[in-house]
Amino acid sequence: MNVASVLKAKGRAVATARPETTLKEIAIQLAQKGIGAIVVVDDRDEVVGIISERDLVRAVATGSNEVLDKPVSEGMTRDVVTCGEDRTIDELMEIMTKGRFRHVPVVEGGKLIGIVSIGDVVKNHIAEVEMEVSAMRDYLSTG
Ligand code: AMP
Repeated sequence: MNVASVLKAKGRAVATARPETTLKEIAIQLAQKGIGAIVVVDDRDEVVGIISERDLVRAVATGSNEVLDKPVSEGMTRDVVTCGEDRTIDELMEIMTKGRFRHVPVVEGGKLIGIVSIGDVVKNHIAEVEMEVSAMRDYLSTG
């Protein structure tokens, strides 16, 4: 199973924001959409950062009352790890585990075409294991 098949099942919609969006607007979007991260893109739709709920918690923990009025560009991670559609689910699990993050934007030809979260990865991994178990049961029952 690869990223292309995950996107086919879940769709290619990605929540994005511009760098000047405030952290408060980001928090509202995360809460309303029930998601964990937003990809920050410039006016050419190129990925320039990612902001997750962890970054927001970190910003709030500074204790400053004005922190949520700051632009997302001050709280996001700039060095974003992305992947192409041909990556396997196992490779993504390794990327997420090594990088200690739970979201990987999918980029093809410089354009953002989707996002895979750890939830998507776990869901697909469980489906793969279930298929293996079922194949094994069939094999044993016919043997
Ligand atoms: P997460 O586990 O996705 O909530 O993110 C944990 C931390 O990693 C946060 O500081 C995020 O900004 C950062 N992060 C999330 N996804 C990525 C990514 N694909 N590449 C680099 N950093 C990321």
